[in-house]
Amino acid sequence: MNEEADATQAGVASTSPPRAPVTYLDGTSSRKRDVGLRLAAACEILDADGGVIASWPYADVRRVDGPVDTLRLMCASAPLLARLEVRDAEMAAELKRRCPKLDADLPGAKGVAVIVGWSVAALVSIVLMVVYVMPLMADYLTPLVPQSVERYIGRVADNQVKVIFDGKRCESPDGKAAFEKLVNMLRQAGDIDGTTEAAVISNEIANAIALPGGKIYVFEGLLAKANNVDELAGVVAHELGHVKNRDGLRNMIYNGGTSFLIGLLFGDVTGSAAIIFASREMFQASHSRDAERTADKMTIDIMRKLGRSPKPMGEFLLRVTGKEKGKGLSLISSHPLTEDRLARMSEQDAAPSAPPLLTAGEWAALKAVCKTSDKR
Ligand SMILES: [Zn+2]
Repeated sequence: MNEEADATQAGVASTSPPRAPVTYLDGTSSRKRDVGLRLAAACEILDADGGVIASWPYADVRRVDGPVDTLRLMCASAPLLARLEVRDAEMAAELKRRCPKLDADLPGAKGVAVIVGWSVAALVSIVLMVVYVMPLMADYLTPLVPQSVERYIGRVADNQVKVIFDGKRCESPDGKAAFEKLVNMLRQAGDIDGTTEAAVISNEIANAIALPGGKIYVFEGLLAKANNVDELAGVVAHELGHVKNRDGLRNMIYNGGTSFLIGLLFGDVTGSAAIIFASREMFQASHSRDAERTADKMTIDIMRKLGRSPKPMGEFLLRVTGKEKGKGLSLISSHPLTEDRLARMSEQDAAPSAPPLLTAGEWAALKAVCKTSDKR
């Protein structure tokens, strides 16, 4: 190349090989050596005989932290650990003039501020994703998931439920028949897909759940607290509402999506992830209240269609939450305020225009569905 020509054209003091106090580390050995510099077309590093050891393009030269009286430099196109230390003030000033990107990508205070700024921006955008975008995505995707896929997901969830609750299905023949009769009546009144399955699970918690794919479980603890068929029927109708609206699948998509986002960006629960989890919880509380209100509407519709009042279900839940408060049961904790919902059910109260959904004998058999002879 024509560096010599450029050097002569530059015509500054730098053309005469300076013997400034400059030291050089080549980045491959730990030996620091005294060198000379020639500021020509590039910054040329010279050995004692004036031979060029290295040539750093000005645009690649970066400042790194060093002592106050020293300009310490590295070069983007040189070995990572190569350093040039310039203690001559005049030479340092000339280098600063020639190196246009001396302070670019500087990992100093400004760099840290930039990194923090980007982290905050990333966190805010993820929170916005969690609160605004993921719910829309879940709403958008849920109807696109084929029923067969939802049922498959439901089977996976079902296995989890069996493990988590360590519960067996209660299968006393008369009780099971009564429960199936009740669920079928409710399902038909609610115009809900015939593939819905429902069972009582032998577990003391007072709760009921609807899984993706339409499986409904009422836990023995809830059945034990029900005083009459209408109370239990209202709860099952509510769960049927979740089935019809595919709320289980929607929640799964939403939770899966946000967990995926969090995992992708943070790997585990860090401070930032905790903020995102918290925003998700807050969102879920309000979002699920909407889903719960819609499911309650199903209770009202079904019970009225069957000539029964939805009010007993409202009273039932108030009675159960009164006793179970603070146990974080999903049927209750994510639900609208129980008093509000009782008020809503009460508005729809009317004297029964049809006989009880089950006979006294059937109700007694259902209440005893978990008390099979082989269990006791
Ligand atoms: Zn619910």
